Amino acid sequence: MNLSKEDRKLIFDSIRDIPDFPKEGIVFKDITTLLNNKEAYKTLMDHLEERYKSYNLDYVAGIDSRGFIFGAALADRLNIGFVPVRKKGKLPSTTVCEKYELEYGFDEVEIHLDAFPIENARVLLIDDLIATGGTANAATKLIQHVKANLVEVCFLLNLTFLEGAKKVEEHAPVYSVLEV
Ligand code: AMP
Repeated sequence: MNLSKEDRKLIFDSIRDIPDFPKEGIVFKDITTLLNNKEAYKTLMDHLEERYKSYNLDYVAGIDSRGFIFGAALADRLNIGFVPVRKKGKLPSTTVCEKYELEYGFDEVEIHLDAFPIENARVLLIDDLIATGGTANAATKLIQHVKANLVEVCFLLNLTFLEGAKKVEEHAPVYSVLEV
């Protein structure tokens, strides 16, 4: 199901731009104003449910931390499990870890080694936004490392001028609800 022009505008307009956060020169896309707008939030979740209900998924995996909000809500709608991909040091059991480069320095994400108890589990990975693609690319590697079948990677928003999706597309198809 494609989003109508009106629905796309409703979702897009509900996301607030915060200039110079967390540092000068960055325009932060604030999705809290989407979440507290019940029409926009429901329209987005209806769209995601409609798209993914025929994908025969076993799990939705969400990226720390805004990917948890959309991912967990979608998993519940699809009546399947949810798996968190977390920043290093937060998961309590045995993990696999992937390091990735930031503008200055490195960061790491982790997943539980036994996160997907089904063999060849069909997984959708989701996050709110793709910028450089470093975080999502590391998360795709983790999902493949634990031998799950990464079916698609979904973002609410793609900052296309940073071309981050190109990296992720080497591993799995990418779907972005909105593009800037
Ligand atoms: P990247 O690894 O560069 O693709 O950055 C993606 C991660 O950083 C996502 O988890 C986003 O939530 C967050 N992020 C990066 N840039 C922005 C931005 N301009 N506005 C909001 N979140 C951002």
